[in-house]
Amino acid sequence: MAVGWVRDGAVQDQIDASLQDAVKLARDRLPRGESLTHCIECGNNIAEARRKAIPGVCLCVECQTERETRQTASSGYNRRGSKGSQMK
Ligand SMILES: [Zn+2]
Repeated sequence: MAVGWVRDGAVQDQIDASLQDAVKLARDRLPRGESLTHCIECGNNIAEARRKAIPGVCLCVECQTERETRQTASSGYNRRGSKGSQMK
């Protein structure tokens, strides 16, 4: 028996869930707090110009690049993974 509509509560749950995802993503991307003088990943000195350009920066250029590369790679992996499970 198909139900043509969902309860308000269920819709709100979905909205909350996607909102939380968006907030989480934004938090990951947006800088927070004060700029650090040293990279949290490798401890290298972060150039003053970079700290001023990116308020709240906590990674050096190398680690930031590596992190972004990793995120891109892992999201690509997840996409392939879910596609594969759908096809089974
Ligand atoms: Zn670093």
